[in-house]
Amino acid sequence: MCDIFSMQLILLIFMNKENNITFDMKGRLLLTIATVGLLSGCSKASSVMNDEIKDYKVEKFADLQILRYNVPGFAELPIQQKKLVYYLTQAALSGRDILFDQNGKYNLRIRRALEAIYTNPNEDKGSENFKALELYLKRVWFSSGIHHHYGMDKFLPTFTEVYFKEALGRVETKLPLAKGQTVDEFYNELRPVMFDPTVMPKRVNQAHGDDLVLTSAANYYSGVTEKEAEDFYNKMRDPNDKAPISYGMNSRLVKENGAIVEKVWKIGGLYSEALTPVVYWLNQAATVTENETQKAVIEKLITFYETGNLRDFNAYCIQWVKDLDSNVDFVNGFTESYGDPLGMKASWESLVNFKDMEATKRTDIISSNAQWFEDHSPADDRFKKKNVKGVSAKVITAAILAGDLYPATAIGINLPNANWIRSEYGSKSVTIGNITDAYNKAAHGNGLNEEFVYSPVELELIDKYADYTDELHTDLHECLGHASGIVMPGAEDALKAYGSTIEEARADLFGLYYLGDHKLVELGLLPNDDAYKAAYYTYLMNGLMTQLNRIELGNIVEEAHMRNRQLIAKWVYEKGLKDNVVELRKKDGKTYVVVNDYKKLRTWFGDLLAEIQRIRSLGDYEGAKNIVETYAVNIDQDLHKEVLKRFEALNLAPYKGFVNPVYTAHKNSNGEIVDVTVSYTEGYAEQMMRYSNDYSFLPSINN
Ligand code: ZN
Repeated sequence: MCDIFSMQLILLIFMNKENNITFDMKGRLLLTIATVGLLSGCSKASSVMNDEIKDYKVEKFADLQILRYNVPGFAELPIQQKKLVYYLTQAALSGRDILFDQNGKYNLRIRRALEAIYTNPNEDKGSENFKALELYLKRVWFSSGIHHHYGMDKFLPTFTEVYFKEALGRVETKLPLAKGQTVDEFYNELRPVMFDPTVMPKRVNQAHGDDLVLTSAANYYSGVTEKEAEDFYNKMRDPNDKAPISYGMNSRLVKENGAIVEKVWKIGGLYSEALTPVVYWLNQAATVTENETQKAVIEKLITFYETGNLRDFNAYCIQWVKDLDSNVDFVNGFTESYGDPLGMKASWESLVNFKDMEATKRTDIISSNAQWFEDHSPADDRFKKKNVKGVSAKVITAAILAGDLYPATAIGINLPNANWIRSEYGSKSVTIGNITDAYNKAAHGNGLNEEFVYSPVELELIDKYADYTDELHTDLHECLGHASGIVMPGAEDALKAYGSTIEEARADLFGLYYLGDHKLVELGLLPNDDAYKAAYYTYLMNGLMTQLNRIELGNIVEEAHMRNRQLIAKWVYEKGLKDNVVELRKKDGKTYVVVNDYKKLRTWFGDLLAEIQRIRSLGDYEGAKNIVETYAVNIDQDLHKEVLKRFEALNLAPYKGFVNPVYTAHKNSNGEIVDVTVSYTEGYAEQMMRYSNDYSFLPSINN
């Protein structure tokens, strides 16, 4: 029911983390923190965190904020698993250049030329041109190319062409010149690509009516039109194939001497120079696997990289889905196809992770009490499940992000992409707890709460509990909310376009209602009977005000999760008006949410839950339409204007990305790894330059 598991949407959503929205996909606060805090009776869960990271914010430039993330639990892994993680992180980093080349055929040349100038000790580091070059290079690193990682538009350098030409001349021997190419020729080749806004303006063009292949700068096709590409692959597809393969996923399609051919990414094919070290490290990893299933996963991936045969890729995916018991897991390969305007070619990425046992323990507590929650829900008894099974959410800890998951990353993984494998063999869906935790930590002190929270009383509540209660709310939403209740025969699809808003409202309300229940304190999930207030306050503040920041003035609320949050917030606000349960109070010309009676507010959440459950169970379309259209869609224009203005003044970076931790393998005199340690001090440019020095495997021109 949680339709936002798609990576694209997750990324989209996380651009707006400042909004403090509770998302389905929110990772979980590490239970290490929560449990220690709760068991010791400590009211401030976050204060007991054993945390090596002092500041999660690394730096900010352009529209980007660079953060770092913690890898809790790594030090406690058995040495064999540490080695496994280490080898897999090496495999992850070894593929870095592939994405640069996939994103545009000049990207590696541009990056290396910029890096040569950037590291030239004789450059005047204080000059405006040098600073502009540094900024541009940081953006190129972030986007793995010259186009915005999210918007897809080319961003332009702010240093002069003359400066660039002269600076290139000063590093001639370090430039990635083609054979026999002069610096002038090199400059003339790159100049329009970098400086001319009409050349390669978009990495992925989706504009209806254009030839999407010819007008996209991504390096997945060369010399072929959209129609030629479509025809080429349509001929291959066999509608009767019981195990269909993702044609074109791992190749560049090119026209050579009038013929259209695929250049397959594999050992011995295109990208061989990077895939060879990837496979080397995968082979190392195969020597320290936890079990035979995991070993088979790695072996099947290696086979695929060696053959480039997509049947081998299917075999790998099926094996990967079967590996549920291993603690360490990974994604490594050609995975998502958002970078191809035709949605076939897959960009390279990697993520290495291990299970977050503590967070999973918490969701286990919730799930194992699912029947109690179902029985005590305010919904009509007719609509309750007699036998409810809670879902145990899987939470992982990321150890490294790479390729198309770096520096900007998803907060959840749901793979494989092939539908037939998903339905026949299943899929793995996980949330990345430590990444969400880092977003939360970094959001502290960004000024958002100071701007929108009414008084120091609420601020203190939020500081103490909100990160944690937000996570808990997400757990309740996922593990219980969606799993609760029954739908009467024939009512399944009756709500049509209103269905997802109602379903999300149901799950959110289930979570909100129980957050205020003493049962959670009894179960050890909340430290006291005040903590839930932080979640109630932030939920209303978001639903009534701050989420409006994501909508353009004059537009209505359209996205289902946003609709659900406004529905709930506005409904309880209006119901509570006469008793003054929730107010929108003006102070110094600004609007604030004030909650006067949290206990009463909880009963309103309960009443609304009963009504929403009724609508869902009976498939009451008119009821759904009425409540959604009344509360969830329209926006007060004056309030909207005010919210946008206040956000603008906060000057928050809309996009975020991460530097990775650094893993160091410690060897004994025999050269065996005896320990792997992790550190969190590397800077952004420092890391990018280290990667460029240590993992620069592809030639600058890959034909
Ligand atoms: Zn949901």
